[in-house]
Amino acid sequence: MISGHSQSSPYPSRPPPRLLLSMRMASPPKPKLQIAICGGGIAGLTVAAFLSRSLDIEVHIFEGKPNIRAIGAGIAIWKRYWDILEEATDFELECTARGLQVCPWSQVTGPVLRKADDPSCGVDFSHVPHGPRLIPRDDLLDILHKHVNTERCRIQTNKRVISWARQEPEKIIIYFEDSTSVIVDLLIGADGVHSCVRRHLFQGNRAFSEPKFSGQFAYRMSCPRAEVEKRCPNNEALRGFKIWCGKGRHVTSNTVRDEIQMTAYDNVFDANGLPAPFNGPWVTEVPAAKIAERYDGWEPDLVGLLQVPKIASRWAVHVVHPLPTFVSDRVCLIGDAAHAMTPHQGLGGGQGIEDAYILAQLLAHSQTTAANLPEVLKIYDFIRRPSSQEVARQSFANGLLYGFLNPKHCDASLMEVGEEVATSCRWLLESDGAKTEWAKAESLLATLPPCSERS
Ligand SMILES: Cc1cc2nc3c(=O)[nH]c(=O)nc-3n(C[C@H](O)[C@H](O)[C@H](O)COP(=O)(O)OP(=O)(O)OC[C@H]3O[C@@H](n4cnc5c(N)ncnc54)[C@H](O)[C@@H]3O)c2cc1C
Repeated sequence: MISGHSQSSPYPSRPPPRLLLSMRMASPPKPKLQIAICGGGIAGLTVAAFLSRSLDIEVHIFEGKPNIRAIGAGIAIWKRYWDILEEATDFELECTARGLQVCPWSQVTGPVLRKADDPSCGVDFSHVPHGPRLIPRDDLLDILHKHVNTERCRIQTNKRVISWARQEPEKIIIYFEDSTSVIVDLLIGADGVHSCVRRHLFQGNRAFSEPKFSGQFAYRMSCPRAEVEKRCPNNEALRGFKIWCGKGRHVTSNTVRDEIQMTAYDNVFDANGLPAPFNGPWVTEVPAAKIAERYDGWEPDLVGLLQVPKIASRWAVHVVHPLPTFVSDRVCLIGDAAHAMTPHQGLGGGQGIEDAYILAQLLAHSQTTAANLPEVLKIYDFIRRPSSQEVARQSFANGLLYGFLNPKHCDASLMEVGEEVATSCRWLLESDGAKTEWAKAESLLATLPPCSERS
């Protein structure tokens, strides 16, 4: 018992032995694992949706906010991540039931890259032939939330984790802001880029514990599509997913439901190409007119488009420095807590979905027990860390390409830049995604000694 904390276990206390005997047939078996998930975002809900199917796993989500809600508008979901969501939730049916348009994959095309910093006209210079589907973030969270089996997973909101510690033998104690605490077998940190679970995992090492400013601001804006049709009827933004590229900055635009969503990215690197120091608020509102001013002298379609929205929210994009590990003993990180990245390929959320899938498969496997958890988590780390960190590196490089800032492509032609972007997206089509990673993880799991040999 930790002094100063009232320890409230979320788990039902065991009935006295005699009662237990008489209830043996009816009462559920003792779970092999009691798992706490810190954070009910995309990654936390995905892992919960999978884990809560297992009869022998008890899951608890602790979410700091008063409700399960997303910030931000649409999210791009590539096919390999969509397939996992399909497995977790009947995703396509859920989307169509909500009135979302779900085009066949063969008709979903990727962004058209357009050189737009020319006042006389813009020019399309590359087209990624396959692309992601775009859906509202709130719908994604709602669907995941709905598919968490609440018989085996309890979701508590307004429940902010403040720290955790090892608790012998082989347990983790989690402390909350409301002065309560719980004890579990495993803590999953799905608490985003500013993760408190990560902070405690790498205590004393700021390079890993704290998020790092990427040197990029994202100005997110949206406006009714009908208004763009009225004010600028032939605008290029009405013709699908565009990345408007120019020296030093770029803008993305796409349609979600009946809105056009735009994000204008600004790079603020110093003379050595390093992010300028930043100590301001992570998210703040700014008048959209201020953003439009910065694109004076770009092609008229973009200037016209940026004049439609009224408000922009400025996100100081923070990332997580490549971590030396995602796991420690009985704690692990998934999603942005493990690898928050710049958003230039629309893959951050998808990578969290893949983490969740691999981790849940490993934990639910019959070979996994409370005793071999540390070894199982090492397999998760071995499989997921290199691939997600490579995606983060590529995403940052693409951001530089869109702003013609990538030092490797200083003298490259527009065609070469376009080809580089298309090549960087090819794996999203060719790879069969998480299935290959899972096959590798499962074969590693088979090499662990049976639990009876360990004790
Ligand atoms: C401008 C922009 C555009 C993007 N576009 C895309 C895209 O198109 N496609 C894509 O795949 N990705 C995209 N991303 C990335 C994507 O948004 C993130 O990767 C994703 O939201 C991360 O999900 P998560 O569940 O790991 O973390 P989060 O979404 O941050 O969720 C973390 C949750 O944990 C909770 N929490 C935090 N601390 C605590 C605590 N101490 N106790 C309890 N709860 C806590 C939070 O309230 C939150 O609900 C974009 C990102 C940005 C910035």
